[in-house]
Amino acid sequence: MKPLPPGSTIGILGGGQLGRMLAVAAAQLGYRCHIYAPDKFSVAAEVAVEFTYAPYDDIEALGRFADACDVITFEFENVPVAPLAAIAGRSALHPPIGALDIAQNRVAEKNFARAQGGTTAPFAEVIDMASLNTAIKEVGCPAILKTIRMGYDGKGQARIKQDDNLADHWDAVGHQPCVAEGFVTFTQEFSVILVRGQDGAIRYWDTPHNIHEDGILAKSLIPAPANILKQEEAARALAAKMAQAMNYVGVLTCEFFATNNGPIFNEMAPRVHNSGHWTIEGAVTSQFDNHIRAICRLPLGDTGLAAKKIEMTNIIGGNADEWQALLLDSANRLHLYGKGESRPGRKMGHVTKLFL
Ligand code: AMP
Repeated sequence: MKPLPPGSTIGILGGGQLGRMLAVAAAQLGYRCHIYAPDKFSVAAEVAVEFTYAPYDDIEALGRFADACDVITFEFENVPVAPLAAIAGRSALHPPIGALDIAQNRVAEKNFARAQGGTTAPFAEVIDMASLNTAIKEVGCPAILKTIRMGYDGKGQARIKQDDNLADHWDAVGHQPCVAEGFVTFTQEFSVILVRGQDGAIRYWDTPHNIHEDGILAKSLIPAPANILKQEEAARALAAKMAQAMNYVGVLTCEFFATNNGPIFNEMAPRVHNSGHWTIEGAVTSQFDNHIRAICRLPLGDTGLAAKKIEMTNIIGGNADEWQALLLDSANRLHLYGKGESRPGRKMGHVTKLFL
């Protein structure tokens, strides 16, 4: 199969900052982007050529979108699977729908990682108060209750401590089907970010050490400390096995807890990921560039480092007001996503600092 020639149209489902950075990388390679999003204001559409503003389950609008694109990808993993399956065949779609299906369900995701030989936190499904009581006995306390679907950035989660009133936590997650996870005592958190081409070739970026605050990524640091680097090989092997088993094409991110007994798989994102934003300036080829290359059948670019040390810091909520101060450090590379209003917990941008 030949590469998609420059001038072809890439469809992106999802209208947020990941789509914006994908569209910028695609434009650099001479492609046109068409964004599909259910929100009228899209920071991705602002840098793209076409915009379809329609709900994700509008099969007619999705079909027209597919007909107008040479290949489709997504930047949001909660795009409903059934309408996408209904338009399958009208345009190429990468990564595969199967990867979305697994990533949208925390139970399926953990079972899939285990089936590929990975270790996860102990977990049990919760559908009501009775199963919550049993689950906590099974996985122990402290525990984290997470909705099986639609959770991200710590949303849809409740942290359960000894002697807590379980009914309050069940109320906090809105009585939705959940997974109760045993609390992992980790030394650090990290992610494996890989890209898989249509020929099955895999490349990895350096492993970032990820620091979360309130369930949201705050910083990614390169190089990672020795304790993470010791676990890198096992974590990469699991991520590669998962990618192969899904017949995956594009960037795949797997998040891990580093423990004294090896890596514990937390979750995967079938897309470019916040912990890979440092690759824009910090790697020879960014995650966005290589994702576009993979879905368009171009040769993959070098994922090697462009600096000795790299720090990526998310700009969250009101911190976006600091943009002028951030620019006073000439080593800072500032990215603002063009979101008008800053709300607590909202990702407004990021800054990458390179140490050459
Ligand atoms: P998640 O939405 O699963 O990525 O969770 C967000 C963050 O909460 C993670 O990056 C961890 O910092 C923390 N967390 C999630 N699950 C666990 C767990 N089972 N044990 C300890 N910390 C966790």
